[in-house]
Amino acid sequence: MPPRPAVLEQRIATLKAQLMALGDLRPGSLSQQYNVCGTAGCQCKADPPRRHGPYYQVSFTWQGRSKSQFVRREQVARVRQHLRNYQRLRALVEQWIAAGLELSRLRLTGAALPSSSEARSPRNTRVAAARRQQRSLS
Ligand SMILES: [Zn+2]
Repeated sequence: MPPRPAVLEQRIATLKAQLMALGDLRPGSLSQQYNVCGTAGCQCKADPPRRHGPYYQVSFTWQGRSKSQFVRREQVARVRQHLRNYQRLRALVEQWIAAGLELSRLRLTGAALPSSSEARSPRNTRVAAARRQQRSLS
């Protein structure tokens, strides 16, 4: 059975509360790289090479532009948390949209029903009304 409006309203209220509780966030993905320097005879040019790093950077697209920023090693854990919070934001918004679509559909097809109604679904009501009409015509 599809969810009733009251159930969807409660789901959306819960999503809003979860959104309000989100901490710092930022989009992007974290990567690490190892570099070679310009110093002659450095270990990074040895055989086998021991390159410098890891260096961390966060890459993201914002307002149509791709950017990347270096992240200090001691800030990596914090940045990871911000990236997770952003993913959570997107997931919560997706769920809100899904619930909003369903709720809108219910409201448009069952506008006369209060949200907390235990009444039959509007589709069944309409079918019953159509049957009544058919009987009265015949
Ligand atoms: Zn080097």
